[in-house]
Amino acid sequence: MSKLPEGRLETRLPDKAPRYTRGEAITEANRCIYCSDAPCVAACPTGIEIPTFIHKIATDNVRGAARTIFGANLLGTSCARVCPVEVLCAGSCVYNAWGRPPIEIGRLQRYATESALEADAALLARTKKPSTGKRVACIGAGPASLAAAGHLALDGHSVTLFEKRAYPGGLNTTGVAPYKLHAHDALAEVDMVLALGDIEVKTGVEIDEAKARALLADYDAVFIGIGLGPDRFLGLEGPGVVGATAYIERLKLDPTTSLAGIERALVVGGGNTAIDVARELAQLGVPDVAMVYRGTEAKMSGYAHEMVGARKDGVRLVESRQPIAAVREGERLVGLRVARTDGEGEETLSCDLVAVAAGQSRLTGLARAFEGVALDDAGRVVVDDATCRTGNPKVYAGGDCVNGGKEVVNAAQHGKLAARAITLSFGG
Ligand SMILES: Cc1cc2nc3c(=O)[nH]c(=O)nc-3n(C[C@H](O)[C@H](O)[C@H](O)COP(=O)(O)OP(=O)(O)OC[C@H]3O[C@@H](n4cnc5c(N)ncnc54)[C@H](O)[C@@H]3O)c2cc1C
Ligand code: SF4
Repeated sequence: MSKLPEGRLETRLPDKAPRYTRGEAITEANRCIYCSDAPCVAACPTGIEIPTFIHKIATDNVRGAARTIFGANLLGTSCARVCPVEVLCAGSCVYNAWGRPPIEIGRLQRYATESALEADAALLARTKKPSTGKRVACIGAGPASLAAAGHLALDGHSVTLFEKRAYPGGLNTTGVAPYKLHAHDALAEVDMVLALGDIEVKTGVEIDEAKARALLADYDAVFIGIGLGPDRFLGLEGPGVVGATAYIERLKLDPTTSLAGIERALVVGGGNTAIDVARELAQLGVPDVAMVYRGTEAKMSGYAHEMVGARKDGVRLVESRQPIAAVREGERLVGLRVARTDGEGEETLSCDLVAVAAGQSRLTGLARAFEGVALDDAGRVVVDDATCRTGNPKVYAGGDCVNGGKEVVNAAQHGKLAARAITLSFGG
């Protein structure tokens, strides 16, 4: 895999939850009471048998624990670090009802997957089935396509991933907060997937409508895992104003990006991407970082636990303000004009950077290239829930382009479901 450049700003941000030691993991695992009908399992979109893998850690069977995790979720390594466990498995743990801290499921999963792969990199590849001669193309190399590719390769099929960016991994590489997952760790997981079987990744290749139709002729099945499109700007485009996901990508990957001279940053939005970029700027040393949100905190779509973290990082929240226009002196951004939504009047908030986190557009053109593939009113690819098959029997889709933008674990589940259905369609 291509090497990342040195000097990326993201490398200044340390892991917020480092891997447990063996002693820490066994101690934490022994707190689990192995509930029957465990609510943590029901809360996991990939259905990992959580009590089973935790029990294996408690008995020092790390390899077995990892196999339990990967059997349900091939991206178990990144999910261990990026999953919002507070609202998924750990949020459902019975300990919460007793007013006690839930089991640290994410950290236990990280311990098991990373330790097992470190001890035996070929742990999963050994389960690969003989070659079937079938070929599948995946468009995009984000979590959805990687999960699909990994499962397909283990089933003996040959897979080619086409990725328009210079690096594979999708938002795990370009978007997820570095203190959860650095780009180099996202690429290490990509390497793990590529080693599972006959998988090739072609980076720097954007699939347009004509190429998409050619794929259908050349391959036995096609998986669409293209995620979402560019940031929306709310009409604020111009010098000093950046799109949040594009800016995070620069913080993570572009060593020429510098925060020198940025004293006051405003982040427009109240979702998780807004919280992420605000926390990253604050942790990287921008002295004053504020989120500007049109409603009140109770209405924000960002997770409450992330907002608690943001405040600890020093991020301020300016509620009930709707952006109107960027204010510039010449080419230089000096402020953001906002209207109060809780009363009358307007004001200008001083700043020298505005990051707009108002959602991402939809990439609708590609899906339309395939006969029979439908989009819903929100521009999401329509698939069958159980198989991720579109209206075209040779075309499958998953991840953000289907659900409109959820989590890595949802993309991993879609990739798994699609791979199973593709193998069945090949008679496997
Ligand atoms: C800033 C940010 C932070 C996030 N943080 C978290 C988090 O902490 N935890 C979590 O679980 N989830 C998080 N998410 C959500 C998560 O990253 C996504 O749900 C997940 O990555 C979706 O996977 P995907 O494969 O569907 O799409 P993506 O990850 O977007 O991957 C799609 C890939 O397809 C490529 N592509 C697009 N069009 C083409 C084309 N025509 N030809 C070739 N390649 C193409 C893109 O370049 C991209 O690499 C975050 C999202 C954002 C924006
Ligand atoms: S709900 Fe909590 S205690 Fe029960 S099995 Fe899951 S992690 Fe263990």
